[in-house]
This record gives sequence, structure tokens and C-alpha cells, in this order.
Amino acid sequence: MHDTEVYGAWEQSRPNVTRRSYLYPLTPFGVGTAAVESLTGYISRLAAAHALETGVLIRHELRSRIPCTRGVWAGRVREVLPEYPFYMGAHTLNGVGARAQLWVSLLDQLTCVPRLDLLTALPWASTISCVHLLRPSRAWCPACYGDELSSADSAYERLLWAFHIVTVCPVHRLPLESNCPFCGRGQYVLAYRSRPGYCSRCYRWLGRASAGTCLHSELTEQIGVAEMVGVLLAAGPTLSAHFGLDLFRENVRGFVRDAGGYHRFHAGISHLQVRNWVRRTVIPRMHSLVTFSHSQNVSLIRLVTERIDRGNKPDQKCVWNAHYRVAASVVEAALQAALQAAIPPSLPEIANQLGYRSVASLKFRYPALCREIVSRRRAQMRVSNKAPVPRERIEKALLEELSKPGFTDVRVVMASVGLRSTSRLDKDFRDLRLAIAAKNATIKRRRLEASRAALIAAIEAAGATPCNDPPVPTVTEVAQRMGFATAEPLTSQFPELTTELQACRRRATQGKHRHRASERVRQRLTEALREFPPPSCAAVVRSLAGHWTQIREDFPDLWRSLRQRHAEYVREVHRTKREAFAGEVYSAVTELHRQGIYPIVPLVLAAIPHPQFHSRNMVAKAVGLARRELSIKPYEAFRGQRSSGTAVNCCTNATFAETPNGVARP
Ligand SMILES: [Zn+2]
Ligand SMILES: [Zn+2]
Repeated sequence: MHDTEVYGAWEQSRPNVTRRSYLYPLTPFGVGTAAVESLTGYISRLAAAHALETGVLIRHELRSRIPCTRGVWAGRVREVLPEYPFYMGAHTLNGVGARAQLWVSLLDQLTCVPRLDLLTALPWASTISCVHLLRPSRAWCPACYGDELSSADSAYERLLWAFHIVTVCPVHRLPLESNCPFCGRGQYVLAYRSRPGYCSRCYRWLGRASAGTCLHSELTEQIGVAEMVGVLLAAGPTLSAHFGLDLFRENVRGFVRDAGGYHRFHAGISHLQVRNWVRRTVIPRMHSLVTFSHSQNVSLIRLVTERIDRGNKPDQKCVWNAHYRVAASVVEAALQAALQAAIPPSLPEIANQLGYRSVASLKFRYPALCREIVSRRRAQMRVSNKAPVPRERIEKALLEELSKPGFTDVRVVMASVGLRSTSRLDKDFRDLRLAIAAKNATIKRRRLEASRAALIAAIEAAGATPCNDPPVPTVTEVAQRMGFATAEPLTSQFPELTTELQACRRRATQGKHRHRASERVRQRLTEALREFPPPSCAAVVRSLAGHWTQIREDFPDLWRSLRQRHAEYVREVHRTKREAFAGEVYSAVTELHRQGIYPIVPLVLAAIPHPQFHSRNMVAKAVGLARRELSIKPYEAFRGQRSSGTAVNCCTNATFAETPNGVARP
């Protein structure tokens, strides 16, 4: 009989079976640290895990499930997916916008991996503006990728590298790279053939083994920034869903209050911007936040997540923000006192004494009193200003002026006796005024006549001396000499004369310039005649930067001698060269003849190491001359002599075989 064994009861409750995922539930790297993986990097790693190209996974599984966020297709999935613009803007998948949200929720759904939003900047969406947040191109730290053999499987893209403001790797303290060292090209953050650690264009490994951390001193600040952003990313999982800008606003307000107002607050950014952060719902940009935290010497994470205690009482009154107000009794007393003064002070003066920057407050509170002060002040000022000028003084000044020969400006005269206008003159001294006007008119007429004569004289003088010596005066100079301030009276009265004078002046100036220029040419030509080797005319013209024909026509004799001198020199040089060449030919012919070789042109040329001439005619002439001098018979005779059996020393068949008939005949 079998032992009866008592078994436990059947497990009745359902086991906890997790949801099946459509794609592999790949665990993202580095969540909760500064080195958290980016969503785009996660997508390419997901594709690699399914042995797919990133583009294939995106096209067939992901994009076909993502509705458009903008345009006519907004809210719907496009039937035909456009290829290019997707990868161009793929960096926004790591960002803070609706697009990132859509992709995160889709991948959450397909992989069943929770909190993929931590692979993007989404946790900070309400705190940091999307403007200039992410860079559109891929950047990486080659040391973070490491060696291909050891780390190709564990390589991943850091979210930190996606931020515009991060330019160095805080771990290896190296600048981030953005161009492939092999193909030299930049890449999009996500591409059809993206694979962590590899160039998406040439598919080569971008990492290299780290050669220890090297710290460039100029990178210190950038490393600080990268670390600051890294801390933000690491804090992602701890943020509440309703995290916002409240603490940040409060902190900024505190800083501004401590400084004593926006105008006294210096944060490296405009106070208007700071004011907008506090008063309006403007979301700060990453760059501004970093600048701000640097200027206040507070870390970025504290600035946005903690209430910063600056040692002030929480209920301290915000003085700068309160409306500055002086007690009504004080203001009224000040205004009353001003009204009692012999000449009341101006309203801005009173306001300033009370500590106001404008008179608005005074006018608003005591309009009647202010009006009274203004009118009383005006009346008093008028009375005090009114110092009547005695009639005798005016008359005396006018008579004095009338007796002077020069032009009289009545305004100046009135000012000299203490009058601001000429109205009293018109009223009380009409005769004197008319007399002065008549005197002025006479002076002006005489002056104009003299000016006319001066203009004519200047024109005649200019005609007599074409080379501007003495210089022809300008119309303004003539006018000033005649006592006018400007040329206007002359140009309006004598338009023809002034135009002619201007033309004369132009001609004279040009003539003078030309004269000066031609003097320079003459000097240069004379110098060139003394130079050795004699320069060519072309070289001289070039050195003068002048015109060939002009110079030749201006200085025909100098030109001719210059040309002759140069031509003679060239001839002489050529002759010397020819003679030297003839000497070389002669010795070559002699040598060939001595060896029993008939001296034909190619052989002679070949015997001269560096022949000066290659012209066949010239060489043939020189060879012929040498042959004649050495009494060498013509080639036919030489050949006849050879074929008849006469001995020719050392003459080989090969020598003749190389000799073409046409050249052999001199
Ligand atoms: Zn690194
Ligand atoms: Zn490459």
C-alpha cells in the first residue's frame, strides 16, 4: 500500500505575468545619472537589437504609427512618408515638444519600458525653453565610446551631448567631436544607418581608447557648464509631474530684491528679460539660465528646484517694489513753503527735494497748488527779467553803428544793449533803422561791384597762367575776400562769371597735375637712359604706370634714344651668344672630325652639352662655317670616298644608320 502523501492546495491566484511587448524591452542606459542615454540613441540601439537598420525600424514600425504634429496632416498619420526632412529634424525627438512626447509614448507602448521620457528633456519642459536647446547635428565624445573591440556592444549615445550648450565631455574632459575623423563629415542626430558609436555615413568606429583625462585650462568653464546640465539630467527621475517655474521665479525675485531692484540687478542678461521671467510666464532659455546661475554663484539645479535662503526674513518688505510715497502733510508743507518764496522754485526742483523722480505725484495730489506755484513763478520771473533798457542807450548804440563804415547787423546791436528782439527798434527808432538799412544796401552794392571785378580779374589771371601758378582762387575764396560769409551772393548775382572761374580752376588744376606728372615721366626717362642693362621702353612705361602713346608723344627724343639703346644692347647680347655658340660648334665639329665621324647637325648638337640655340637654320649655318674652316668636304663626297674604300678612322655603320639624309646635308 502506498503511503498517502498530502500535497498542498493548488495555487488558485493568477500569477503576475507582465504585459507582452511588441519590441524588445531594452533597458535604457544611465537613467538617473548625467550619462543618461538619449531617445534617438535608444531607437538606433533598439533597431540593432532587432538586427535591423535604424531607418527600417523607423520607417516600417515607428513612423507609421506617429501622427503628424503640424501642417495639413496634423493629428493623422501620413500615407506616404517623406524621407529627408525627418532625419534633418530628428534631434527634436530628444527635446521638450509635442513630437518628443508622441515618440516617448509610442516607444513606451511598444517596448513596455516605463519612463522613456527620461531619455529626453521632457522632465524640464515647463522650466527650460526649447529655443536653442538642442543641436541639430550629432556630437560625441570618442573616449566615451572607447575602443571598438571592447565596447562596441555597450556603446550608446548620451543625452548630454545633444544639448547645444554642452561642448565638452565632463567625464573625459575632452571637447565633443562633430565631424567623423575618417570621412570628415558631420551627421544628423538620427540617420537611416545610425548605430551607436559608428559614423552613419562611412560606418567606421568613432571611438578611441581614452588616453587619460587631459584638462585644458580654457575648458574649465565649459566643463562646469556640462556638469551643471548633467546634474539636471540626473535629477530627472526625482521631479514631480507638476514641476514648474514657481521656485525659480521666487528665487529670482529674491535675488532682485537683495540687489535693490531690477535696475541695480546685474546678472549678465538684460533686466527686462529677468523681469519677464518673474512677472510673465516666459520660460527661460538654457543659455540664460546658465549665465544667471553663474552670475549668482548658485548651481542651476538649486536655482530651479530649491528655495534659496539668502538669510533674509521671509516677511521682509520689498521696499523697491513698493510705491514711493511721501506723507501728504510733508508734500503740502513743501508746496506751501515754495509758494511763499519771493520767486517760487520750479516743480521739478520741489519734487526732487521730496525724493520724487517726476512731478506727476505732486500734480496728482495738489493740482491747484501746483498751478498756483507755476503761475506765480512765471509772473515773478517776468518781473525780475524786465529791466527796461533806457531809450538813450539804444539811440546811442544805433548812432554809433551808423557812423561806422562797415555792415551793421541790427540784431547784434540790440543784443549788445540788452534787447532780445528788434521790435522796439521798429517801433521807436524807425528813422535810424531805415538809415542803417540804406547804409547796408549801399555797402552790399559796392561789395557786389567789387566782387564782379575780382571775379573777372581772377578769370583773366587764370587764362594768362595755365599751370595754376599762382593758384586760381575758388568762388568762395573770392566771396570771403569781398566780405561775404558764403559764395551764395556771388553765384546768385553772377552765375556766368562764377561758372567760368570754376572751369578755369578745373583746367588749371588739371594742367598742374599733368605738368607734375610729365615732370616725373621726364625724370624717369632720363634715369632709364643711364641704367645698365638698358631697360626696354615697355619696362619703363610699366614702371611709370603711364600711357605708352602719351609718353612717346610727349618725349619723342628721349623715347627714341631709349629704344635705340635697348635695341643695340639686345643685338650685342645676341651677337655674343652667337659667337660663343659658334666656338662650341667649331670644337664639336673638330672633335667629331678627329674621330672620323662626319659632323652632321644632330651629331654636333648632341656633342654640345647645353646648346644655346636650337634653331635648325642657325645651327646648320654654324656647322657649315666650321666645316668650311676645317676644309671638310661635303657629305656626298665624303660618302663617295668611303664607298670607294678609302679608310675612315673609327667610323661605324651605326653612326650613318642614325643619320637621316635630309639633315645630313648642310
Ligand atoms: Zn567622454
Ligand atoms: Zn565617417
